[in-house]
Amino acid sequence: MRFAHRHLLGIEHLSQSDITAILDLAEKYVDLNRQSTKHSDVLSGLTQINMFFENSTRTQASFELAGKRLGADVMNMAMQASSIKKGETLIDTAMTLNAMHPDLLVVRHPHSGAVDLLAQKVNCAVLNAGDGKHEHPTQALLDALTIRRAKGRLHRLNIAICGDVAHSRVARSNLILLGKMENRIRLIGPPTLVPSTFAEFGAEIYDDMNEGLQDVDVVMMLRLQKERMDGGFIPSEREYYHRYGLDAAKLALAKPDAIVMHPGPMNRGVEIDGTLADDINRSVIQEQVEMGVAVRMAAMELLARNLREAA
Ligand code: ASP
Repeated sequence: MRFAHRHLLGIEHLSQSDITAILDLAEKYVDLNRQSTKHSDVLSGLTQINMFFENSTRTQASFELAGKRLGADVMNMAMQASSIKKGETLIDTAMTLNAMHPDLLVVRHPHSGAVDLLAQKVNCAVLNAGDGKHEHPTQALLDALTIRRAKGRLHRLNIAICGDVAHSRVARSNLILLGKMENRIRLIGPPTLVPSTFAEFGAEIYDDMNEGLQDVDVVMMLRLQKERMDGGFIPSEREYYHRYGLDAAKLALAKPDAIVMHPGPMNRGVEIDGTLADDINRSVIQEQVEMGVAVRMAAMELLARNLREAA
């Protein structure tokens, strides 16, 4: 199997067969991760540096575990305390790290496009762990693996992506991936958070949850991204929950076996009811976290194969 990419910067660069290759390889790592000894040496001898310029709990932990389970030397850079604070530019920091010969650089940055820019300046493989409102490719891949395992397929499903689409890189990467895999996507939220321009992704847009959720197979909720909002996008959190928060009554409009997803971190009682989020009969939120490690292991293995071939 050939994965003809040097970096993993976004879903937009991947073909259907690239996506399937990552998910198929990730299945092997789901099994490995469930064993008591979770070790492989496919990244042995390689150096992985995680550079997170924005806070992260699960994504950073997931990439760190993924690298360690594959035998890489993993270093987490504390970017809050780094030279960036002293005025060094992103590119200077990248060039400094580049001189230490990393093989895999995992980067999260608050600006859309910053990770692509950095990838042009370094010699190693770069993985985008989220750039601004642009892309979060490993999140979309882990969501895809979760859906494929729960539904038995990843095509011809009706999938609702609900809430703060406008500020969400998770929504963007998922829209691209699920569209490439030939699913029907509905975006549901107030017009302030789901601008009509998103129709260009081939999605149907609804501003009423009760209409949009009818008969869907998958309900993907999004966090209200307050840190990316510079004005009043919603009247109040209470009103938002009433109209757009997912609870058992709204979920009853979807198919009886519809699954509930959320990328985390969750605002319980704002975009989702806490009890529903914890309901293991409907919610696959914990599976998403589990699939995250496996998908990141698969993506890093495929990029490392290319690095070794090029060496
Ligand atoms: N953790 C995801 C992200 O980094 C989703 C979120 O923060 O709402 O984009």
